[in-house]
Amino acid sequence: MRSTGSWYIVRNEDGELVDARIKGKFRIKGIKTTNPIAVGDWVRYKEGENNEFVITEIEDRKNYVIRKSVNLSKQAHIIGANIDYALLVVTLANPRTSTGFIDRFLVSTEAYGIETILVFNKYDLLTEEEKEELEYLIAVYSLIGYRCVVSSAINGKGIEEIRELLKDKTTLLSGHSGAGKSSLINAIDGSIETKVGDISSSHYKGKHTTTFAEMFPLSFGGDIIDTPGIKGFGIIDIDKEELNHYFVEMMELLPNCKFSNCKHIDEPQCAVKKAVEDGEIAAERYNNYLAMMLEEDENHWRTNIYN
Ligand code: GDP
Ligand code: ZN
Repeated sequence: MRSTGSWYIVRNEDGELVDARIKGKFRIKGIKTTNPIAVGDWVRYKEGENNEFVITEIEDRKNYVIRKSVNLSKQAHIIGANIDYALLVVTLANPRTSTGFIDRFLVSTEAYGIETILVFNKYDLLTEEEKEELEYLIAVYSLIGYRCVVSSAINGKGIEEIRELLKDKTTLLSGHSGAGKSSLINAIDGSIETKVGDISSSHYKGKHTTTFAEMFPLSFGGDIIDTPGIKGFGIIDIDKEELNHYFVEMMELLPNCKFSNCKHIDEPQCAVKKAVEDGEIAAERYNNYLAMMLEEDENHWRTNIYN
């Protein structure tokens, strides 16, 4: 339920929360992490000394999301594991979420193999012009396979649809600060307990707990992983050369390009560029792809992907 690197909160079979430490080595090959066990991991534990529990084993992960540490450049933090959905809360105004941000987010979730839902929140605030833009964006993203939901945490639009999607799933919640993540959670589940019990308070005092991911159980089944202070996650496992694999509609056309490793920039007989010219691939998506490809500072590209 919570992982800081030294202390963990584990939910047992009875739904009770216990404090635990880890013993032994749990490593992802080739990556140094500040927290070997993450929110969403399934673990085995035993009772240790002084009423403390000790995590002894971790089950294989179906997936995980990692973020390169900004300060400790060689270390990474595992944000969450065993995630069914990444839910990105997007707003066209107050604050505005750019398609550049959306597309970078989608690159990372594609790379991690996590299904993504786009929730366009604050519908009640949109002008007629913004509603048209919204229709366009929904057409663009649903056509290439992303589930889109229109919502308002204020008037309840879309809330039941989100509730049904999240039921019995583990969902990682993301989006700009102010997009309405907390409001949506409260609208979806009014009885949610978004404060992990006080049992561990002494271990966390004085630490920057707000930057750690936490998991909250939904009263109707399923869990939400909230990542306060983290706008997004880096994609440290990905080589820029592979970026063309994570724009799904471009990946689909790659076999039609003359070169099997076409980057769709200035190669001859490129099926992707033709599709952009013909309006079959959204110009915004292609431009966002180019901007990422042409970003020179690889390190910036990797760590600050969401800024
Ligand atoms: P978070 O930072 O993503 O958790 O965003 P909050 O849930 O704190 O919401 C930021 C502000 O937007 C608050 O003042 C909310 O009341 C407001 N807000 C959230 N969702 C909606 C919405 O659907 N419509 C309107 N009009 N305001 C919203
Ligand atoms: Zn091409």
